Amino acid sequence: MNALDSTFDVGAQTTALRVVAAIANAIGDAPAVLHEPRFAGNEWQYVKECLDSTFVSSVGKFVDRFESELAAFTGARYAIAVVNGTAALHIALKLAGVQSGDEVLTPALTFVATANAVTYCGATPHFVDCEEATLGMSPFALREHLQSIAELRQGTCVNRLTGRRICAVVPMHTFGHPANLDGLLAVAHDFKLTLIEDAAESLGSLYHGGHTGTFGAMGTLSFNGNKTITTGGGGAILTNDEELARRAKHVTTTAKLPHRWAYEHDEIGYNYRMPNLNAALGCAQLEQMPEFLRAKRRLFGAYSAAFAGIAGMGLVGEPAGSMSNFWLQTLCLHEADPLLHDAILSATNDAGYMTRPVWSLMHRLQHFGDCPGAPVPVAESLAGRLINIPSSATLAAHAA
Ligand SMILES: *Cc1c(COP(=O)(O)O)cnc(C)c1O
Repeated sequence: MNALDSTFDVGAQTTALRVVAAIANAIGDAPAVLHEPRFAGNEWQYVKECLDSTFVSSVGKFVDRFESELAAFTGARYAIAVVNGTAALHIALKLAGVQSGDEVLTPALTFVATANAVTYCGATPHFVDCEEATLGMSPFALREHLQSIAELRQGTCVNRLTGRRICAVVPMHTFGHPANLDGLLAVAHDFKLTLIEDAAESLGSLYHGGHTGTFGAMGTLSFNGNKTITTGGGGAILTNDEELARRAKHVTTTAKLPHRWAYEHDEIGYNYRMPNLNAALGCAQLEQMPEFLRAKRRLFGAYSAAFAGIAGMGLVGEPAGSMSNFWLQTLCLHEADPLLHDAILSATNDAGYMTRPVWSLMHRLQHFGDCPGAPVPVAESLAGRLINIPSSATLAAHAA
């Protein structure tokens, strides 16, 4: 007997099977994983060039090239490639001045790396609610919360309840959908907070025509194997600030001073530099970005059409004023229904279509249980209603 038998619900089962049929209709036969990379371009050639040159590690032309191509693609003045998106967040927070004993505002609804990176600086994450329209941090909830618990003391935002400084705010563009950046930037300005965008999921997404990751003081990207483009493992920091870019490069490369032979380091640095081999893969992937974005948009269209006939749920679309990269396609139940949520996850995975619920909310994780936070009713509600469905760019062939 499995857990569902005791709560078997004919209505939920029937709907779950209709969901399976809708997915099949949109993308074709199972199996389909949640997200797989696609290597249809110059990947083999660039990686081979790397091997042939022997420059596979911390020196080589592909790192510089990947950084300048990322900057050109996003419109950021500078891009600094690093080993992964979590390291990018760690360094962005450090350069924003986050120190031991500080608090940093993050969404309750995010991947655990956003909050983990805060703790790497010795700081404490402080969780905020998100909004239904974007799935990102709510500027309204943020402002209301800060008005009730924080005050400015000599230009510094302080949490009156804990006495700690609140230094930065890190919105995240959930599943690629841009958060309400205008609203969040206004709150950050009023409360003297540095805004860092966790744009790990949103490379290629536009907010009012500008690339996500370029609105805050810094933005961070991930090129993990399940992201829109991959370098195997990798990440980057975007910024328009020359000094921040120089500092980011310096501390991610062991803070070594340039010299023909001497090993001189002027502060504690990190070995966070992206290897040339990974950057070679990244250069080839980035060339295909326009095609990936078209494919993902087509897939969204196919899913939207397939789900149009099923009452009580819909696909998460792009927020008004934004162009999403549609990294992960997401089914959203209109009402919280734990039985139906489980029935859909169970039926789709049984059928060979990999689907997943959204992450556990941060304040529910044991190691963040004591962290400060605002009430998060919207995140709590969404957590029981969202389901990610197969989203690879490769699936769009059927959708076309
Ligand atoms: C993927 C991801 C990260 C971390 O990226 P890694 O490259 O896996 O370290 C950070 N934040 C969010 C929201 C992510 O989805």
